[in-house]
Amino acid sequence: MLEIKNLNVNINEKEILRNINMNLEKGKIYVLMGPNGSGKSTLANTIMGNPKYSIKSGKILLNNDDITNNSPNEKAKKGLFLSFQYPQEISGVTISNFLKQSYNSLKKKTLSFLEFKKLLKEKANLLKINETFLERYLNEGFSGGEKKKTEIFQMLVLNPAIAILDESDSGLDIDSLKIVAEGINKFMNHEKTILIITHHKKIFDYVNPDKVFIMKNGEIIIQKGREIIEELEKRGYENIKND
Ligand code: ADP
Ligand code: MG
Repeated sequence: MLEIKNLNVNINEKEILRNINMNLEKGKIYVLMGPNGSGKSTLANTIMGNPKYSIKSGKILLNNDDITNNSPNEKAKKGLFLSFQYPQEISGVTISNFLKQSYNSLKKKTLSFLEFKKLLKEKANLLKINETFLERYLNEGFSGGEKKKTEIFQMLVLNPAIAILDESDSGLDIDSLKIVAEGINKFMNHEKTILIITHHKKIFDYVNPDKVFIMKNGEIIIQKGREIIEELEKRGYENIKND
């Protein structure tokens, strides 16, 4: 289980997140919503250990192990995964090579060339990704949707315990959204935890969340069941209340 306790985070001395508390259990799908600039990506990046964000106080615990000050690499080895809102282009490194390197550095066992190829093929099929696509340089010249799909592909191949998806459903056409949502459902089981950051309720036609967090001005103002998503659609963030 991932626990966030009284987390306060600054960027360049400016307070961004205030007193965040979250308990993310195994086997559950969580959602984080909130207006632009409310601090959702800051929270995701802080959980992952991005050094740009400085933790002023509070703790992050993974199965009771204090990981607050772990490096992103240590956190990844412990099973955390973040799909970026704005994936970086890495020229000269193909998707398949990138994933092989990542896989071998994260996992204790190394797969043979053929075993790894089989794994890639299986996950690519799930997302209807063409095998030739895996030989392209990571994110170079990719459309917005291809980048997002590639992030989900990474999640499926690396198979982390906890996945945070930062707007992985943005910019996807209807068919791709469905494929990505199915990928999320195939990834999910009673050992996994997912935190989906999103602006769109469409993804919940396919993915059934257990709990929704709503963030405003760097604070979690509401924690409720999925019914809050409909209410949010009607009232907007301006008028949503915790009642
Ligand atoms: P969200 O993902 O909810 O849209 P972010 O976490 O990206 O919000 O941003 C939260 C706030 O932090 C915003 O007001 C944003 O302008 C600010 N912020 C993000 N990065 C920086 C930075 N490098 N320097 C100063 N402020 C930043
Ligand atoms: Mg964001």
